[in-house]
Amino acid sequence: MDNKGDRKKVIVIGGGISGMTSAIYLLDNGYDVELYEKHSITGGECTSWKRSGVEIDGCAHWIIGVNKYSNFYPIWNHLGAIDENTKIHLTDYFTKIYYPDGEVVTVYADLKKFEEELIRVAPEDKKMIKKVIRGIKGYQHVDVPTKKPLRYYNIFELIHFGLKFVPMLPYYLKYKHMDGKQFCEYFKSEKLRYLFRNVLKSNYNVHSFFYIMHALTLHDAGVIEGGSLQFAKNMEANVLSKGGKIFTNSEISKILVDNNHKVIGIRLKNGEERLSDYVVASADVHHVLYDLLENKYTEDYFKKRFADYETYPLNTAVLVVYKITKNISDKARMMVVDAHDLYIGPEKIDRLSMRNHSYTKKDENEPTTVSLLIPVQDEVYDYFKQFTTKKDYLEAKRQVGLSVKEYVKDYFELTDDDLELIDVTTPLTYERYLNAYRGSYMSYISTKSGKGLMRSGVVKGLKNFMLTGQWLMSPGGLPIAVFTGKHAAYEICHQDKKKFICKEKKYPELSLKKKRKLYS
Ligand SMILES: Cc1cc2nc3c(=O)[nH]c(=O)nc-3n(C[C@H](O)[C@H](O)[C@H](O)COP(=O)(O)OP(=O)(O)OC[C@H]3O[C@@H](n4cnc5c(N)ncnc54)[C@H](O)[C@@H]3O)c2cc1C
Repeated sequence: MDNKGDRKKVIVIGGGISGMTSAIYLLDNGYDVELYEKHSITGGECTSWKRSGVEIDGCAHWIIGVNKYSNFYPIWNHLGAIDENTKIHLTDYFTKIYYPDGEVVTVYADLKKFEEELIRVAPEDKKMIKKVIRGIKGYQHVDVPTKKPLRYYNIFELIHFGLKFVPMLPYYLKYKHMDGKQFCEYFKSEKLRYLFRNVLKSNYNVHSFFYIMHALTLHDAGVIEGGSLQFAKNMEANVLSKGGKIFTNSEISKILVDNNHKVIGIRLKNGEERLSDYVVASADVHHVLYDLLENKYTEDYFKKRFADYETYPLNTAVLVVYKITKNISDKARMMVVDAHDLYIGPEKIDRLSMRNHSYTKKDENEPTTVSLLIPVQDEVYDYFKQFTTKKDYLEAKRQVGLSVKEYVKDYFELTDDDLELIDVTTPLTYERYLNAYRGSYMSYISTKSGKGLMRSGVVKGLKNFMLTGQWLMSPGGLPIAVFTGKHAAYEICHQDKKKFICKEKKYPELSLKKKRKLYS
């Protein structure tokens, strides 16, 4: 082992948000860190790229924790992802729902406005609307164990943590086991059923809607100036400044385990081996367990999930992006529109969520993009996989772009000259760049019957090894990536019998009452 003095070495597999988070907290705690990333840049899914002279943001619609009073903010700040000077783009609304008859209903981030908007559309549902608002208020109490893994909470910390959840609990218990379809049935008004059908996919549990709304209503969900790539780059700079080593274009093919089931290092795809005291794996969990660990340590928890797509569907998507040369700054930033006769492979798409990126423009005359992240079922992976030639695959992508283009033209009032299809990513893109299992860009979809418990990242029977990343809790996303990344560092310190040193800055706390007053 090439340890310097008594400093232990940790190898981190994957340079996404969770991997870089682990690296930073491990460096803080006196470990030498080597991070190996398959791609030529770090960031993983949290990334952007250029096409046709414009930037495509391939990730963040909402980063939760952008508000300095939230419990995620000190972490993002410590990681260097955001600081007090970072410009945050918040939004006044979650989305705007465009009805076929031309009506537009806004899902406002301001709860009073949202309530008024819903009552305007459906006064007959006033009672249920008030329940929805109370539900979101209940969710505003949500707390996530960002400080350390829950299993290291002492009894007093657990009680304190549990008590915070009390106002949210009745709603959580109810909505966790209810899907979008059932939720719609609570409303008499067809207009509101339509609204919630378009906000929630029918098999998603309703919890996800309340979760994102709690963050939006507390001004805690936004994107940063510079976009997803800048966010990741800020973290990379921090890893390097703390002395971490980052190796890009370095794909790992095997995790080395000795006869005592102790992880001792990794083998790179080029055959070179690197030894370490610990390995933290932040890559896609299926890839880690089934490929890198050769299915020798796959726990029942993950086996069950990967064998039951009905209860635990994989979260995959197609992203379609257009460059727009006309000024569309006056149009909505997020909107959901009806789709008809639109198919991606075998799947009928009945709604499209469009994102207008004009808010990032520095100059009114510069071109912008409109992107559509279209959640699709797992079968769409097989559809794209069937093409044996690159030409056929590219043509299938182009066809998706052409069909969707008509909707973009229609809703943004554009002619053919105003827009250009510049990219279509498919589940195969996520597989190719990230080793994402069947192209799943997030973890399992949170369905009404799925169990969403958080995993610790410890793999039974395997020593000196931690899993981290979005697969440890469905439905994934940046918040899960970041706190599981921190937890992995905590676990390693614990295994080494070291006190975990947390160098996060302390921010003043604000009561929920004050936050509500501030943001309404
Ligand atoms: C289009 C899109 C929109 C999204 N929008 C949001 C949003 O609005 N809000 C939100 O919170 N989340 C969003 N997400 C999800 C979010 O980006 C992810 O949850 C998060 O970035 C996952 O981080 P991670 O570190 O767990 O995994 P990854 O980002 O997958 O990182 C794992 C890393 O491991 C590397 N790797 C894999 N195999 C190997 C190997 N064998 N050797 C070396 N390296 C390897 C990969 O290349 C990757 O860099 C979005 C994702 C996408 C794709």
